[in-house]
Amino acid sequence: MSLTLSLQGSIWPQSQGKVNLKNIRCLGSVRNLVKTVGVPSLVSSPLEALRNGNWVKLICGASFEDVVDIRNLSLIYTLAGVDCIDCAADVAVVSAVNEGIDAAQKILNLRRPWVMISVNDDEDPHFRKAEFDPEDCPLDCTRPCEVVCPANAISLKEEKSTVNFSFDTITLNGGVIADRCYGCGRCFPVCPYDKIRVNAYVRDASATAELLKRSDVDAVEIHTSGRQTASFIKIWNCLRSSMGYLKLVAVSLPYTGDTTVSSMNDMYSIMEPHLCCPNLWQLDGRPMSGDIGRGTTRESIAFSVCLAAAKDKPQGFFQLAGGTNAHTVDGLKREGLFQTTSIGSEDKNQNKASPTSSHALISGIAYGGYARKIVGRVLRSMQVGHGLACIEDRPEHLLNALKAATDLVGTVKSYGPFEG
Ligand code: SF4
Ligand code: SF4
Repeated sequence: MSLTLSLQGSIWPQSQGKVNLKNIRCLGSVRNLVKTVGVPSLVSSPLEALRNGNWVKLICGASFEDVVDIRNLSLIYTLAGVDCIDCAADVAVVSAVNEGIDAAQKILNLRRPWVMISVNDDEDPHFRKAEFDPEDCPLDCTRPCEVVCPANAISLKEEKSTVNFSFDTITLNGGVIADRCYGCGRCFPVCPYDKIRVNAYVRDASATAELLKRSDVDAVEIHTSGRQTASFIKIWNCLRSSMGYLKLVAVSLPYTGDTTVSSMNDMYSIMEPHLCCPNLWQLDGRPMSGDIGRGTTRESIAFSVCLAAAKDKPQGFFQLAGGTNAHTVDGLKREGLFQTTSIGSEDKNQNKASPTSSHALISGIAYGGYARKIVGRVLRSMQVGHGLACIEDRPEHLLNALKAATDLVGTVKSYGPFEG
């Protein structure tokens, strides 16, 4: 079923499929860009990418639910050659991701990235939304919340209302656009009047288990603090009936000190009897911060250095996330961890994770806020000019977005320069 039918028709733009000479030329340039940088020849299967250390995942955001942006992001990053697209465990969002992948494949028949959905076993910053009532906000507030939000998820407008026939009053309308808020938390501390509340939630694990059985979902990621074995067991027991449908099971966790590696081993022993596919550890450095600046990637690199030094590494692939950006590959290279160190035959999980005898210690990188930021600029400018649109109907914008996306993905996959 096409996304236009499966999503809320009121907000979803119909692809116009506009055929004019300019569009045809621009789509030709899109194909040319993808071929010139080498995406078709350098993109292997997602599993091979994990083994080779050049796996790239796009994180749409566990709480980001703007289906129009998600569909366009998925299209752009599929053409850029990502191996996996990670999104909210929500039917409409999963459909949007798949619609974007389908649209990309109509432009150039590249292999499909895996689709991963994210759940949490307890409170986690990725699973929360900001909330406030704009009517409670003082009218003279300079609205720093609007300025600081990286997702354009806060929109406020003064409006006149005639509540009383004798005089007009000004009220503040709008607030947080829930679908766009991904819980980064940057608005919370900047509100001078402490008006912003946090709405934290836990995804329904039973509904997620059903979603995992869909043929267009390939992988799951469990976000955990790693500190509460009981909550991890609980979610695992809910999800394990769906394990036979999956190509990858990921666990995302922060570094919590000396006990981190032993917690990972404990979690692996809980999962191991039910795993039917490879498993991956997402080393979450500084969550949802990669767009802020160069230094945000340090924590995930430090996590990988600790793991590289650990003698009792847990079974599975390792991938960086949390603060990752254009500087992450250089940081890994400085530590000698970029596609170099391999795990050999001591890997007891090799039948599941790697039929060959070894794989790269660090399998790859997931990009979230930074990947969305570099492409988001183009999506916003397209929206200003043309409203909500399928990006392939505006191929000049698609070309610009794709240049930014291939620059980032190419740092891991070693794409060549684009001259054209
Ligand atoms: S939590 Fe982050 S994404 Fe959500 S409204 Fe606040 S600044 Fe924007
Ligand atoms: S900063 Fe606080 S008071 Fe000001 S508009 Fe935003 S939520 Fe309202």
